[in-house]
Amino acid sequence: MLVPAKVVQTCEFREYIPAMSGIDDTQFRRPGLRAILYARNSHDRTRRGISVNDQFAEMRPVAAREMWPIVGEFRDVGMSATRHARKPRDEFAAMMEAVRSGAGDVLMTWESARAQRDLAVYVALRDLCHDTKTLWWYTGELYDLTLRSHRNRTALDAVRDEDAGEGIREGVLRTVRQRAERGEPHGRIPFGYRRIYHSDTGKLIAQIPDDALPTAEFAFEALANPKAPIVREIVRRIAARQSAYSIAQDLNRRGIPTPFRNARGWDIIQVVRTASNPAYIGMRVHQGKVIGKATWEPLLKDDDVTAWWQASAIIADPTRKTHRDNAVKHLLSGLAFCGAPGCGEYLRMRHPRNAFCYTCIAAFHVAMAEHLLDDYVEAAVLERLERPDAADAFLNASNDDDVVQAALAEISEKQAKLEEARALATKGTLSLTSLAAMEAAWMPEIEAARERARRSSIPPVLEQLVGPNAREVWGGLTIPERRQALRAIVTVTVNPTGKGARSIRPGRVTLDWLTPGAPRRRPGPLSGPGANA
Ligand SMILES: [Zn+2]
Repeated sequence: MLVPAKVVQTCEFREYIPAMSGIDDTQFRRPGLRAILYARNSHDRTRRGISVNDQFAEMRPVAAREMWPIVGEFRDVGMSATRHARKPRDEFAAMMEAVRSGAGDVLMTWESARAQRDLAVYVALRDLCHDTKTLWWYTGELYDLTLRSHRNRTALDAVRDEDAGEGIREGVLRTVRQRAERGEPHGRIPFGYRRIYHSDTGKLIAQIPDDALPTAEFAFEALANPKAPIVREIVRRIAARQSAYSIAQDLNRRGIPTPFRNARGWDIIQVVRTASNPAYIGMRVHQGKVIGKATWEPLLKDDDVTAWWQASAIIADPTRKTHRDNAVKHLLSGLAFCGAPGCGEYLRMRHPRNAFCYTCIAAFHVAMAEHLLDDYVEAAVLERLERPDAADAFLNASNDDDVVQAALAEISEKQAKLEEARALATKGTLSLTSLAAMEAAWMPEIEAARERARRSSIPPVLEQLVGPNAREVWGGLTIPERRQALRAIVTVTVNPTGKGARSIRPGRVTLDWLTPGAPRRRPGPLSGPGANA
């Protein structure tokens, strides 16, 4: 069967000479079909692949020639379509939705592989086109997926596309693995390094710390603002048990650019990843594992190598108690409550010299070993923070500005009145007894308003803590910072038990998750120990 001449015309592009597939589209090829265009390319450093714009530039004249009005264009730039793809293709999903809604009569993709390199996706697309009676155009041919021969032909293309995708991937992986085994650099240049290329061949000669000076062997221009000293500083400061959070804030204050040019500046994750990157001690990492010595010069030397190992140990264990030198040494002192009926007091550390037990301040209602309770709460909190809905649950503070503003207004008003009363008392116009009575009445109210304001505003550490990186961030926090986060998200209650237990049985510890602005189940110790009534 002859391929219609007009189809040959549309297909001058590259190797895609229309296959003599014998597809007969005269039954359904007609003017006026509403066209939906979809274009995609995957990440392509060498720029050999066809760009998304080129694909549209190919397809639009076809639509014009066929007199198909274009009703929608969808594009995914830098998106893989294999089953190994890391990112979802948003526009692909939108295109499928448009097809499903019946918005178009024909879907146009420049070639079959632009739509997918995954048989499962092909099947979904084929079924959708079949059910909605949407035609599919690619490489100059128009397919009606309700026809057996067209399903067969497009399926064969899909098999070929998927296999080609696997082949590309294998080739890339092989190259990456070989470079890794040889200890050669690959991919992104580590922060604080620079690469020297041969001026004629453009080949990579060396990866060196960016504050290295030119030598007789290597002639190159020294950088004005090298980043290698920043790396050394971060490693030393983490090793000295400074909090990643405070380091990040300091770097931002000094205007130091971030490794990933993150608009929000340095955060805990960037600091801990910089401090523990094995590249800096000259180790090659492949797929998250150190596989041997790298060919590049270590950025860290001598004492800094020791500091790197210390920093890595501090970061590696998120629940490690690394910040003993801070004022508050215990994670849950004053933050956990006694669950004995009618008590509701908070727990604090008793006999810290030997037992390290959290106990009820009122009486010996409950007692629990510090490590047991800390480990239990930390595990539960990290698990909760890593869940996909955590940001919604803990950071969604739409109404809280009002609460904070009202509380702050109340605080300043009452403080002003107190100041006034004190001034009057100094002059002798107000009796000291009256002043004492006023203070007794207003101080707890001011304190309560402070508590409301604090509870309704989200601590900045929490914003970084929520999400899949929770463990990593937690590892970079000091005890006070961890307490600040815990205070904002959970109330811990330790319930009495019949016998002293060495492990935590169900029901022994209750965790009540808080949302911003919600009142605490019981007032915390900051409201004063007498405020439980
Ligand atoms: Zn108690």
